[in-house]
Amino acid sequence: MKRWSSLSLTAKVLIGMITGLVIGLIMRQFSDNTFVEQYLVGGLFHVIGKIFLTSLKMIVVPLVFASIVCGTCSLKDIAVLGRLGIKTVVFYLATTCIAISLAMGLAFLIGPGIGANLESTSSFASKTAPSISEVIIGMFPTNPIEAMAEGNTLQIIVFSLLFGIAIAAAGKPAEPIAKLFVALNEVMMKLVTLIMHIAPYGVLSLMAKLFFTINLGAIGNLIQYFLVVLGALFLQLFITYCGMLKAFTGLSPWLFLSKIQDAFMFAFSTASSNATIPVTLEAVTRRMGVSNKVASFTVPLGSTINMDGTAIMQGAATVFIAQAFGVDLSMGDYMMVILTATLASIGTAGVPGVGLIMLAMVLQQVGLPLEGIALIMGVDRLLDMARTAVNITGDSVVSCIVAKSENELNFDVFNNVHAAEDEEYIDFHHIGEESQN
Ligand code: ASP
Repeated sequence: MKRWSSLSLTAKVLIGMITGLVIGLIMRQFSDNTFVEQYLVGGLFHVIGKIFLTSLKMIVVPLVFASIVCGTCSLKDIAVLGRLGIKTVVFYLATTCIAISLAMGLAFLIGPGIGANLESTSSFASKTAPSISEVIIGMFPTNPIEAMAEGNTLQIIVFSLLFGIAIAAAGKPAEPIAKLFVALNEVMMKLVTLIMHIAPYGVLSLMAKLFFTINLGAIGNLIQYFLVVLGALFLQLFITYCGMLKAFTGLSPWLFLSKIQDAFMFAFSTASSNATIPVTLEAVTRRMGVSNKVASFTVPLGSTINMDGTAIMQGAATVFIAQAFGVDLSMGDYMMVILTATLASIGTAGVPGVGLIMLAMVLQQVGLPLEGIALIMGVDRLLDMARTAVNITGDSVVSCIVAKSENELNFDVFNNVHAAEDEEYIDFHHIGEESQN
């Protein structure tokens, strides 16, 4: 048997996930046991899982700030940034529209809600989708420190871009600050590596707790809806993303998928694309060879405005709920669903379960009963994990495409199967050596 320490991080995280799942299922058999409930699930696994998630979130803000400033202050031409921004946003919106259409198409084909004959009994209010102007104004922070304290990714991106541009424009006098940010970026990436060392245990704890608490019986009733969402996620992953990657860059989709594995598993077990930013950024820059200039912008932006997996759930859920409640929606209504879901996803943070809140906006827009949400809630946590993994994969594909078009992709790194694998190990020896000198 291979020794634990010689296994790759991917293997360790995978083992952690499966072990957690099994432990969770075993603990279910002892759900009335106080020791299991209070000390294992509510104690040990809760604490380790929470520490892991919190440490990931802890580095998001400084990492995004450092890497964007670092990327933009090395820009020679401001027009590049504009071009980069437009390309990225166009690709993000296009993949989201494809995702919803795919999900609605599949849901029509399978008809998961047909025959349920439910009747709407109550109505409760939901938030309405933000207007485009609100979204745009909301991107500008009045106070950057407040934006960072609140973890408002879009506002942090805008401030970091402006800050980086100002450093570049200031030229020579600002060079020390530019160097400081390059160093800070390196340190933050090392911190990511450090936190990845607890990932297998963190993932194990999250999975054990989840599978202890989750209501697996709910899947039975909603199996068709569940399968439609999974099927559409699968198609988006293997057809849309792999096809786009091949068509726009000529890169190998298999190599891409093998390099995104770690980030995929992190997203799956945390159900948060925001918390996964550090890992996605690492995979995209160090494993796939996308320059920091591009990735520092596309990855955090994607984790906020590009939620293809979420859009898939919303598309499928809308059709499912319309069918279950026997509501006939027109073609115009479905167009409205695509538009609202795409708009609502902009400016909504990538955190667990937020997709359901956004769904309320979509349903209300076309007059569908909001209690439909209660119907699918039981299976949402598992689907949340799967769709978050697809969300971050979409961000990474677009990062590669945009980088390739800007000549910012290092093909040698991408084509090297083992690129950056040795960075999983941290060498502390030189700390002692340098202090002795
Ligand atoms: N959990 C998802 C994410 O963070 C959002 C959602 O669909 O609820 O990307």
